[in-house]
Amino acid sequence: MPYNVKNLNGTSNNRVPCGYTSWLDFWEKKSGKKARECACCYKNAEVGAHVQKANSDDRSWYIVPLCCHCNCISSSEEFTVYDILIPVNS
Ligand SMILES: [Zn+2]
Repeated sequence: MPYNVKNLNGTSNNRVPCGYTSWLDFWEKKSGKKARECACCYKNAEVGAHVQKANSDDRSWYIVPLCCHCNCISSSEEFTVYDILIPVNS
């Protein structure tokens, strides 16, 4: 942390793994933390957003808590998050 990331679009069909109620729940259980704040702007965390690291060879998908506003940042725009990234396939 911090990481420069970009939003991934078209991930709403990516189903939450069995045993989790949402991607935010997935992030909380994997990180062992409460998702209270957006990892970007510190407003209330509302979604477990799918992101990719920017400027990186790592093309993995990660989950990070964001507010709805930050989750709607264009996928072409880089922004910074200040929390743990949890790999989607973890
Ligand atoms: Zn935010």
